[in-house]
Amino acid sequence: MNYQITAYWFCTPCEVEGRDPEHDLSCWNCGGAVTVTARPVVPQPPPGLLTETPR
Ligand SMILES: [Zn+2]
Repeated sequence: MNYQITAYWFCTPCEVEGRDPEHDLSCWNCGGAVTVTARPVVPQPPPGLLTETPR
């Protein structure tokens, strides 16, 4: 199983927050630097698992 590190960030001037891959962080509103608030590692299941109906 693959894992993806996602950075949760907050832009103080804009008062907006977002999520991006940790290597590509910028505010979607102003394009400026952001403050990272968390870096959770989330599993990335294979695409086939997403369409399978649980029984
Ligand atoms: Zn901003």
